Amino acid sequence: MSRRGELDVIVVGAGAVGGALALALARDGFEVALVEAREPKPWRVDDEVDLRVVALAPDARALLDDLGVWASIAAARIGPYRHMHVWDALAPGELHFDAAEHGEAALGWIVENKLVQSMLWRALHGDRLGGVRMHCPGEVADIEDGDRGVTAVLTDGTRLRARVLVAAEGAESSVRTRLGIPFEGHDYAQRAVVAHVATERPHAGTAWQRFQPGGPLAFLPLADGRCSIVWSLPETEAARVLALDDDAFRAELGCAFDFRLGAITGSTSRAAFPLRLRLATRYVAGRCVLAGDAAHVVHPLAGQGMNLGLRDVACLRRVLRDARGRGSDLGVAHVLRRYERERRSDNTLAARGFDAIERVYGSASEPVAALRGAALECAGRLAPLRGMLADIAAGRR
Ligand SMILES: Cc1cc2nc3c(=O)[nH]c(=O)nc-3n(C[C@H](O)[C@H](O)[C@H](O)COP(=O)(O)OP(=O)(O)OC[C@H]3O[C@@H](n4cnc5c(N)ncnc54)[C@H](O)[C@@H]3O)c2cc1C
Repeated sequence: MSRRGELDVIVVGAGAVGGALALALARDGFEVALVEAREPKPWRVDDEVDLRVVALAPDARALLDDLGVWASIAAARIGPYRHMHVWDALAPGELHFDAAEHGEAALGWIVENKLVQSMLWRALHGDRLGGVRMHCPGEVADIEDGDRGVTAVLTDGTRLRARVLVAAEGAESSVRTRLGIPFEGHDYAQRAVVAHVATERPHAGTAWQRFQPGGPLAFLPLADGRCSIVWSLPETEAARVLALDDDAFRAELGCAFDFRLGAITGSTSRAAFPLRLRLATRYVAGRCVLAGDAAHVVHPLAGQGMNLGLRDVACLRRVLRDARGRGSDLGVAHVLRRYERERRSDNTLAARGFDAIERVYGSASEPVAALRGAALECAGRLAPLRGMLADIAAGRR
């Protein structure tokens, strides 16, 4: 804490986004407090692979590496993928991405959410370089925003005063609601059914995605040879699939996946997540900013939600460092607006792009399917276009 007892930044929420941001800012020498409602359950190697996994892009890995947590994540359990196949159930054409074509060792890594959060949490606790003041369990009861600083009043009465407050408490952000920031978007009326499955043939370090009229089906390669599936389905279909017995589930899944990896020979329990598009109409209110799912919730078809959130972290870190370098107050409008300008346009473009893909690929109309087939075939043949798509997914553009 500074001599006046004031912090630089209060981060609310210690998911991957809030945890990474608090750690990054502390490493940069900022005075940081982190407020988290529930202590994350520690990741253990003997635990079954958590059902919530994410595909992390190379730039997300670079950030976690820079924070000193990637090595422990990689040593624990990650599934790298070097290839990606995307195809359409109703039209010809197929897109294939190969990491070697883009000069990368991998296109991405399949990692349990819980593992990322857990390793960040461990680093935050063990950090000798720059301490983060942890308030867990803690929640914000009130925010007093003023010209000279912002005060977060926690439910236990603790008062934290800082230059900036960052809301990173996920899709249901109560700070965003408190700030009166509305969001645009809609419910997809779909749920993503997730499970881990064993397949007759090996996944070959490949991420697979088949677009079907009801929603996309992804098979993501896990470190132990199984695949994690994300099967987006209309609400009623998802409820039906969740209720199937194991044999019927495996048979339907194999069929929905075109038996690309042969029969489904094993499966874990299943869970489902509602799918929504939510885009905060502003990222800044006074000295408060939004980051991660608190600012944007996107369809998981491109596996980008956490990657976008970690790009928010990298951007906010750069903006705050620059402001400090210029001797500027960290929480003034022109500083925070720079972050908002950069990230809101990028996140909105990505979210609207995924939304358009979901609509176009969700259509069963024959002319639309024919156009999709032609587009996929064309993209599959054009190396520069494939390169551009791969660059966007990897955070290089
Ligand atoms: C089916 C599915 C598949 C996905 N696949 C991918 C993928 O392949 N790649 C990818 O990049 N993304 C993917 N995502 C998206 C990704 O999971 C999210 O974007 C990411 O987890 C958001 O991280 P976050 O830190 O912003 O929020 P969260 O992970 O929601 O973390 C929020 C934190 O804030 C805490 N909190 C909540 N409320 C409060 C409060 N009031 N006070 C204090 N603390 C609070 C919570 O306990 C939690 O620790 C997927 C999502 C779904 C649903």
